[in-house]
Amino acid sequence: MSYTNFTVETDADGIALVTWDMPDKSMNVFTEEVMTELDAIIDAVAADETIKGAVITSGKSSFSGGADLTMIGAMFERIHAEKTSNPEGAAQVLFDAAGRMGGLFRKLETCGKPWVSAINGVCMGGAFEMSLACHGRVAADGDAVKMALPEVKVGIFPGAGGTQRVPRLTNQQDALMMMTTGQNLNPKKAKSLGLVHEIVAADGLIDAAKKMILDGLKPVQPWDEKGFKLPGAKVWSPQGAQLWPAVSATLRKQSYGNYPAAIAIIKCVFEGLQVPFDTGLRIEQRYFTEILQTPEAHAMVRSLFVSLQELGKGARRPAGVEKTSFTKVGVIGAGFMGAGIAYATAKAGIHVVLIDRDQEAADKGKVHSEELVAAAVKKRRMTQEQADTLLSLITPTTDYGALDGAELVIEAVFEDRGIKKTVTEAAEAALKPGATFASNTSTLPITGLAENSSRPGDFIGIHFFSPVDRMMLVEVILGEKTGDKALAKALDYVQAIKKTPIVVNDTRGFYVNRCVMRYMSEAYSMLVEGIPPAMIENVAKMTGMPVGPLALNDEVAIDLSQKINRATIADLGTDAIDPRHVQLIDTMVDSQGRLGRKNGKGFYDYPEKPAKKHLWPGLKDLYPQQDADAIDVDEIKKRYLATIALEAARTMEEGIVTDPREADVGSILGFGFAPYTGGAVSYIDGLGVQAFVDMCADLATRHGDHFKPTPLLIEMAKNGETFYGRFGSGERIGEAA
Ligand code: NAD
Repeated sequence: MSYTNFTVETDADGIALVTWDMPDKSMNVFTEEVMTELDAIIDAVAADETIKGAVITSGKSSFSGGADLTMIGAMFERIHAEKTSNPEGAAQVLFDAAGRMGGLFRKLETCGKPWVSAINGVCMGGAFEMSLACHGRVAADGDAVKMALPEVKVGIFPGAGGTQRVPRLTNQQDALMMMTTGQNLNPKKAKSLGLVHEIVAADGLIDAAKKMILDGLKPVQPWDEKGFKLPGAKVWSPQGAQLWPAVSATLRKQSYGNYPAAIAIIKCVFEGLQVPFDTGLRIEQRYFTEILQTPEAHAMVRSLFVSLQELGKGARRPAGVEKTSFTKVGVIGAGFMGAGIAYATAKAGIHVVLIDRDQEAADKGKVHSEELVAAAVKKRRMTQEQADTLLSLITPTTDYGALDGAELVIEAVFEDRGIKKTVTEAAEAALKPGATFASNTSTLPITGLAENSSRPGDFIGIHFFSPVDRMMLVEVILGEKTGDKALAKALDYVQAIKKTPIVVNDTRGFYVNRCVMRYMSEAYSMLVEGIPPAMIENVAKMTGMPVGPLALNDEVAIDLSQKINRATIADLGTDAIDPRHVQLIDTMVDSQGRLGRKNGKGFYDYPEKPAKKHLWPGLKDLYPQQDADAIDVDEIKKRYLATIALEAARTMEEGIVTDPREADVGSILGFGFAPYTGGAVSYIDGLGVQAFVDMCADLATRHGDHFKPTPLLIEMAKNGETFYGRFGSGERIGEAA
């Protein structure tokens, strides 16, 4: 029999080699068709008396990325449709759909023939769950081989037997850690946990897998054997009594109960280990059915998987412009940002001309890359050869002539209009017609900077976030005259360096910084009101923000906030900023000399390592303090989420951001907006626009006009609209749950 996604070849020893190699896909994923074919293959292997057993591997360099999450997206649609058309039977239909993959894997492990998974590369999620259902697992040695159950990162969990098999193969603590964090395991770690049996050289992988079968591998899993014992202690045992209370406490400390899928993993393991394996699988299936119906799963799959992929693949790229493959990129300004941009570009295999005022400054920019590759080599994330190649691609110089032939130049010089003008003119004199010039400015409008250019159609903003090597988001900013070619080229570049772009129109602060400023300024208001600083920071984390607003302000520098305040007042007048905030920042900078982390004194104190940073005790003395016990924590949470979401809604109302996917993804990747919400506009859609409007109107009565719902929100509430419904893309999944 022939299959679309697999080939099956049986050798003279009677071992079937099942090779998964989906046509027209760079990565194997589980789809309905793949499951149907695998089902048929399991039957065929079981029924054929000449076949002793099967080895499953991949025909691609990676094994598989796991389930195609757009399939989960389709399941969300189904949930919605079933609940509407078949409210009585919906639960059963969902339960059956949620158990499809798990049932298939159970069939594989009980089919009576031994199966071995030959893991040749990245093996994620459902594919690792399938491997765990195989009776043997052999992994190829090498840094490219990674295994993980990362579902929790997109709001779901390993619901195809993962929560039952992992803790029956390894101790409960490691099992829980692996599944609640989604961490990657290299072959060595996976073997030490008992999750793979053998590690062999890549070229001996299939032979080693076949040998396991020839050596008499039993087609029975340990948990199906009589007298099976857990590798760790039982749940109800003295050791279990020590572990389990700490598990809940640790999860609570890390994620404040914001992630239902992580809690479900703990319940599956705790309950599943107390019952026979098949009952454990049913428990898992029930929780999986429940999790699929949560707004968190729905929003996280949409933003952190579907939209992220779509934007990464160039969803906003103008059609009909030829794709650029980059050979040379210029970076002007080898300071903090320029050095990072040079590294990210060279890492993508692109030659970088790194220019600064003098050779010493340019060289210093390259030192940043030298430090990063040295650390990567030490951690075995990069080979010495890869490191040397990367460094050889960066040419530090003062010579603008070296830019000749560059497809793109990005300037990251001081935030000064005059200096930016000088370098724009110098670069354009050296560039060929059609090359794109980009500014990494964080505050100066692109339309104004484009006036320095003799070809404003080729002028664009490419705004990175710090630290560049770790921040995955890039804002691409369109000036009034920016043409499609420049936009396409900027997006091709962002794709080449493997970051995620959002495209925004020109405005003060663009998108991300506008939202971030709202977050910080709400904290300023709270400080002025006398809310204890520790509460301001801790409640922000309880809300799901990775960094408290005061810590964040220290990172970006408080004197920068002062500069921005002053520039905003100069441009828009004194009403543009709350005078209490101006006074707070002036006090911090002018009277107290507290500039942030950079001078070791900000809202926090930064003592010498190993001591940890701590809130500056003097902060409480600036304003009379309220009694912490009398403060409503939920009110603070609402203030944070609402002020940022309102700003995101304003940017959409003003046409700065035009696609809700970008508002959501930008908010999560840019400043970590509570990921369980799916992002700043998914938060509004998830609550319902009417409920959000009511909440904001209520907050405005106590905390000021900046909470007043905008005309667009009021109109959308009246019409019963959502952002994904009104502004288009993503509706497929966005409207489902
Ligand atoms: P920086 O001071 O660390 O680096 C600026 C570099 O520009 C210095 O190395 C300086 O020598 C060089 N330079 C100055 N004049 C020059 C000239 N005439 N020719 C060539 N080089 C010159 O500053 P930074 O933090 O890297 O910021 C650079 C740009 O990036 C600014 O526009 C800033 O707004 C923007 N930005 C900064 C951040 C951030 O977090 N720091 C984030 C996003 C964007």
